[in-house]
Amino acid sequence: MKKTILLLLTLTTLFAAKVEFEVLGSGGPEIDGRASTSYLLWIDDEAKLIVDMGSGSMLRFEQSHAKLETLEAAVLTHMHIDHSVDLASFMKAGYFSQRRASLDVIGPEGNHYFPSMSEFVERLFGSDGAYAYMQDILEEDSDSFSLVPIDIEEKTTRVYKDFRLTMIPVHHGNVPAIAVRIDVDSKSILISGDTNNENHSLEKLATEVDLFVAHHAIPEEAKGYATQLHMNPTEIATIAQKSHVKNILLTHRMKRTLGKEQETLEIIKKIYKGKVSFAEDRTRVRL
Ligand SMILES: [Zn+2]
Repeated sequence: MKKTILLLLTLTTLFAAKVEFEVLGSGGPEIDGRASTSYLLWIDDEAKLIVDMGSGSMLRFEQSHAKLETLEAAVLTHMHIDHSVDLASFMKAGYFSQRRASLDVIGPEGNHYFPSMSEFVERLFGSDGAYAYMQDILEEDSDSFSLVPIDIEEKTTRVYKDFRLTMIPVHHGNVPAIAVRIDVDSKSILISGDTNNENHSLEKLATEVDLFVAHHAIPEEAKGYATQLHMNPTEIATIAQKSHVKNILLTHRMKRTLGKEQETLEIIKKIYKGKVSFAEDRTRVRL
């Protein structure tokens, strides 16, 4: 009996996919030597998913030797520039790649202030768009690969060949935004996106995730409008503790939090006992 269990465990390990999470951009919108937000999910050394495409993310994508051809989906957590501006660069690069399979690009719904994912794409690449010269990417028979926008209005799960995505709207001031949970076999990752978690949406996806990628844009003492947009370290730690997450990776680091790492760690450690680390561009974590 023991031998059978051991054999099964060995086989499971042998055949389990190699799952890695890479931070392409660990910064926010500032000029601070970091690319803005972007992440890659790697499975067996192929990049399968990109989440957010902030400025500099295409350069980091190249540096990581990722290929457009292996991506199964893309997500933009919201339409702020530091999360979305490189979408056009990636789409243009598509003409010079081998990729011809269409790509789902998933994002939030719109409101009075921000376009939905599908409106965003229309305003960029539609016939009246700023980049109308690339409007064929919205057609099925594009000379590049076609982009298929998908708007998320409520908690939604989508299953791709190698992973499952669950998205949920989160509070980020007046900006429609989503958080993303990724499940690959028994491994799981939650990306908070930008949010102050006012609606407690994150707890609905965080349960026992292996990696909680938490946007660390403000220090504990932040006041005013920034607290409408972002979580402080206590909020991050509280979610992690309640949801029994295994590791926290702090990213979307900004000048107001840089240099305060020790203070942040002390605040988090009082509430949460798991492992906490700080992301740099190209930080890659094996799950
Ligand atoms: Zn941001």
